[in-house]
This record gives sequence, structure tokens and C-alpha cells, in this order.
Amino acid sequence: MVPLPADRAYSYGVPEGMVVRPGSIVAVPLGPRLVAGVVWDGAGEGVNPAKLRPLAHVFDCPPLPEPMRRFVEWVARYTLSPPGLVARMVLRTPVAFDPEPMMDALRFTGTAPERMTAARERVLAVAGEAPAWTRSGLAHAAGVTASVVDGLTKAGVFETVSLPPLPVVPEPDTGYARAELSPDQAQAASRLVERVEKGGFSATLLEGVTGSGKTEVYFEAVARALERGGQVLILLPEIALTQSFIDRFHARFGAEPAQWHSDVAPRTRERVWRQVMEGRVRVVAGARSALFLPFRDLGLVIVDEEHDPAYKQEDRTFYHARDMAVVRARFAACPVVLASATPSLESRVNAAKGRYGHVRLASRFEDAALPDLRLVDMRRHPPARGQFVSPVLRTAIEETLGKGQQALLFLNRRGYAPLTLCRVCGHRFQCPQCSTWLVDHRLRGALQCHHCGHAERRPEACPECGTLDHLVPCGPGVERIAEEMLGAFPQARTILLSSDLPGGARRLRRELDAVADGEADIVIGTQLVAKGHHFPLMTLVGAVDADLGLANGDPRAAERTFQLLHQVTGRAGRTGLKSRGLIQTFQPEHPVMQAIASGDAEIFYERETAERERAGLPPFGRLAAIIVSAADRRQAEEHGRALRANAPEGFGIELLGPAEAPLSLLRGRWRFRLLAQGTRQARLQDFLRALIIAAPRPRGSVQVQIDVDPQSF
Ligand code: ADP
Ligand code: ZN
Repeated sequence: MVPLPADRAYSYGVPEGMVVRPGSIVAVPLGPRLVAGVVWDGAGEGVNPAKLRPLAHVFDCPPLPEPMRRFVEWVARYTLSPPGLVARMVLRTPVAFDPEPMMDALRFTGTAPERMTAARERVLAVAGEAPAWTRSGLAHAAGVTASVVDGLTKAGVFETVSLPPLPVVPEPDTGYARAELSPDQAQAASRLVERVEKGGFSATLLEGVTGSGKTEVYFEAVARALERGGQVLILLPEIALTQSFIDRFHARFGAEPAQWHSDVAPRTRERVWRQVMEGRVRVVAGARSALFLPFRDLGLVIVDEEHDPAYKQEDRTFYHARDMAVVRARFAACPVVLASATPSLESRVNAAKGRYGHVRLASRFEDAALPDLRLVDMRRHPPARGQFVSPVLRTAIEETLGKGQQALLFLNRRGYAPLTLCRVCGHRFQCPQCSTWLVDHRLRGALQCHHCGHAERRPEACPECGTLDHLVPCGPGVERIAEEMLGAFPQARTILLSSDLPGGARRLRRELDAVADGEADIVIGTQLVAKGHHFPLMTLVGAVDADLGLANGDPRAAERTFQLLHQVTGRAGRTGLKSRGLIQTFQPEHPVMQAIASGDAEIFYERETAERERAGLPPFGRLAAIIVSAADRRQAEEHGRALRANAPEGFGIELLGPAEAPLSLLRGRWRFRLLAQGTRQARLQDFLRALIIAAPRPRGSVQVQIDVDPQSF
């Protein structure tokens, strides 16, 4: 299996004297190149060995475990991706296939040099502190230049030895600092631990209100899985921002977990990959791509914040990491725990139907009260012209600051304003490549498209009518709210948290720490502040435009909005201080707003479940989106029609469309969408395969992408 869009494994000959078995990682000739691949299975049928090109090389690397190969095949079948492309997600780190070279190190021989100098004395003074040194490490520790060390080595004071490279991460110690659990937590933990001890596959939903201590609870299951000798995978959304998670893990286990996400240096990633495969790395905390790490003996999978949209990957292979984590655990025959305060409807229904276990934590740790939640009807409490924070919220901020506590203003929109308009002629700035407005980013001094990255300078004059100084921003983004707060509370320390600010993840981590340490008074942020953070002094959360996510016609909009508002207000009052959440809305009667205000999640879940069931939507029915795109609008639409006209019968699937996709122009490509809908029993994948085969070959720039279980529909 080569990491290319190939439908199946290729056949190669095994040269005399070379030993391979299923799972071996090898290099094979492909056209003029050599590529890495995995020996998938034994010989294919009907191949003539004499005609085969030989394998070029076997890497000195443990074989890819069998459950991993079956997982790759399963993901490929389910998502309708070529298995080679799924295998590529496993083989992403090719340099890791050979063992790491031994490291040159210096060992103190105990002999004294004939000639002594002050610098040499300094080296000798520290030489005994470690069993072996790197040359530069020793020089650094002694505060001398490396040539002093070289001189001593020549004089026989140090000898050069070869040592295996240091482990990426030290072993976690399961008894390092066991938390004292509350009775509720202890009971929840024991149910998870039971699952681990029983062994084999099981799925459990760990549902606990924000601040109930879900992390402490699942750490007990992690400890048990480690004691049984297994490896543990913990998936987290936006792991690059969750230094606090790493710190908590360290506090509990005395060592950090290995990390796996795009921000980890390539060299470290190679080592993690290799050592996961050798079973030396015991715990990985990672983003969704960590699912494809070659664990040798997986004993437990945790998916934290399992409802989070960041788990859905929507390029090349479309997959949902939560769902695939359950499959991964099944192939590894180990338990999986899905944790959330606001579970996805899918997991809720799976738990209700008994397919998943359901463990609940009903109250916050140490009985900290949940915030007092109130809707602010924006029709009755309008802000001043050109502003977005109502007088009610403003007063609340003032009171909060007066008590020396923190306020969080949440708005899920980056930049300064979502639209720029010419007041004279009505011209709107639009992306030339996408069907969206350009977002005004004042801090960067550009108008920017959030879909393709296109950016242009904000001109002084309207490009349409030429009038100077009449371009106006419409609507708020977080930068504009920050400006409003600076004007209203000039003395307060205001921090803006948004993923697009200069400095990237590193700066965000620092700022999140600063907020947790009380070094800010007003925090303004996008959805990234809603996720799992623990801010001890935060006692007020204001949702600036709570209706924002409800605006699009997506049936999942209500669920998303509910989860986001619940999570963000859950940042308040986590240490027992009296706290509140104010939700600014123009539709206070909307069921989502009512459910949020009542603080009763059950109302929301019941209603939403009933509605989905009635409409036959997931999780009660199955759905796939087929996106047809092309540089030419007509070609895209025509191919969409051709798919529909040639659709196979007899699968019990209804095909809708083609209709313009929600983003009808993206990166210069026109997009049309068909939706395939069926019951839970319908053979959706078989239908999709037949659909693609039956359609005429795509012409010109036409591309077809399939998204099984689309997140928006
Ligand atoms: P959740 O993930 O459910 O929102 P956390 O696991 O983040 O909650 O816990 C909330 C806070 O309470 C954290 O600061 C955590 O350290 C603390 N906490 C929870 N349980 C315990 C415990 N048993 N002992 C000490 N601190 C705890
Ligand atoms: Zn664009």
C-alpha cells in the first residue's frame, strides 16, 4: 500500500534474502521514484512473479500492527477515499522508519588532567553531576567554551561513548499524585476503570457539567490502562492551545504526555511516531490526526470535548475524529470514553439507546454554583449607535471590575467588521474568488477573505464611485468590541483573543495563561475562549451576538449554538465565586435561547432529538453530501445534474439536488451540492460507489468530493 490515491495495494516481488511480513514498512519503485509503503497482505491472486518489480528496501522498524491496517481499510471504505490516501495519514513521517542514530556522548573517566586551568577546574567541578554529557551540554553547564572540553577529551579525562537517544517523554507515573475525588467523581471514575479492567471494546459517554472535573475522572481510567501495560490516546480539540491540559497531566502523572499536532517540530514528531510504534511512548495527547499513529498496544482512547466541530476534517479525506476514534477503539479491542458538558446529539442518542454507556456528573466540583444566566432582549435594551454592548451588559461589566473580578465578552467573529460598505453608492467589498464579503481586519490593516485568505488593503476611496472617506464598517467583530471596551473602560486591562492575531499559538498560550493568572480585566474572544479553559477569577460572561450561529439555515445550527453558549458561559464561576452570564439576543423566544436561560440542557436535547427523528436526519437517518466543483459554473452544475440523472436505483436512498452549495464560489471554483439521505439501515456507501461509477467521467476541471456524515447540511 503506497501513500498515493491508489484504490488497492500493488504487487511487488521479494528479492532473494529479503524478509518481509504483513505490516513491514518498505521502499518500493514507483515509476522513476522510490516511495515508502506498507506490506499489506500476502501475494495477490493471478500475479506472475516474474513480471514484478522487486521491493527496494525494508526499513528497520516494527511492522504496522494488524488492527491499524484493518482500521485504514475501514476508514477508506466508510469515507469513500482511496485506501492509499488513508495510509498516507499513517505514513506521514517517513524519516522515522529507520531507528534513531546513536548519540555521541562524553563520559568522565575519573583521571585528572596533567595541566590544570581555571576553566578546566570548572568543567571537572560539574563532570560528576551526570553519567554522560553532550559536548556542548557540558561546556554550557561549566560555563566554558567547547574547546576546553575538547582539550580535556584529548587528555583522556573524558571518553566518547555511543548512547541511545533520550526518550521523547519520561514514563508517566500512575501513582504520582492521585487526586482526592469527590464521592460523585469517585463513582464515575470507578465505572470507567471497570471498563478498562474488563478489557475489550466499549464506548462510554462521560457527561458532566462544566467544572465538574471530567478530566480528573478520566485520568483514573488512564492510570488503570497504563498499569495494565497499554498505551493511551487522548484527543483534544485545539491541542496547541491547551498548555493547561499538559500541566494538569504533569501534575497528576509526574511527566508530560507526548504531543501530536501541527505545531510540534518535525524532528520531535518523527521520534514520537517511532516510539509510539515501539510502544515506548505510553500516552499521546493529540489533535485528530493522532488517530493514525501506529500504536502497538492501545489500551484506552479518550475524546475530550467530543462535541467540538474541530474534530471534523474537511479536506481530502473527510472524516469525523470522534466517530473514527470509536472505530479505532473497536479494532484495538479497547474502551473509548467520550467526554463533554454538551455532548453531540449523536452520542446522546447512542447513550440513550444503550449503545454507549452513560456516566454523568451532575454538579460542579466542590459545589461551585453554575452561573446565573439571563437573556438580554436587544430590542428592549439597544446599545448606543455604532456600539454592540447593551447598557445592561455594560453595567454588569462595571460591577464585575469593581469587585476586582474578570469579564469575558464572547463573539464568534474574527476581525473588526464582517462587511465594508460605501455609504454613497452602496458598493460592498467582496472576495474575487469566493462568494463572501471581505472582513475588515484593522489590526492587520487589510480586508480579508476568511475562506481563501485573499487580502487587500482597505482603500481610502470607493473603487466603484471614487468618493473619499465614506467607507463604513457594518456589524461587529471582536476587534471592534475590544475598541468599544477600551473606550468605555480605559483603565481596565483588556485582552483580545483570536486565532488570527500575530504571534500564533505560542502567543495565545501565553495570553490564556495571563488571563488565568488574573492579569486581565476584560477578555474579548472568539470561540477559542469557550474551550475547556479554567479562569479562576472569571465571574461574568457576555455573549455579544448570541444569534449569530442561528442565522444560517443549517439544521445543526441550533445544536451548535446551544453547545457554544453553554460552553462559553461555563467559563464563569468555576471556583465558587458568584457568577453570571448575559446573553444578548434579538430572539429571546427562540428555543435555544430558552434552553440556555433555563440552564436545563435536557429540554434542549429532548426537543432537538424529537425534531431530528421526525425529519429522519442524523443520528436517525444517514446523510452524505456530494460536492461538485469546477472553475466553470455551468460545467459544475451540469455534472451535478448528470450524477442525479444516472443515480442507481434500489438502495433506498433519496438523492436531492444539485443546488448551489452554501459557499457557492470557493477559491475560484463554483460548487453545487447533492444530498443523499437514507435510513440508518440504508447501504449508503454502496449507493455512493454506484453513483460515482454510473455518472459520466468528470470533464475539464470538474471535481467530485464526498462528505459522509457532513457537519452542515
Ligand atoms: P470539566 O472538564 O468537567 O469542566 P475540570 O476537569 O476542568 O472540569 O475541573 C474543574 C476544576 O476543578 C479544575 O481546576 C480541576 O483541577 C478542579 N478539580 C476537579 N476535581 C478535582 C478534585 N477531585 N480534586 C482537586 N481539584 C479538582
Ligand atoms: Zn476568498
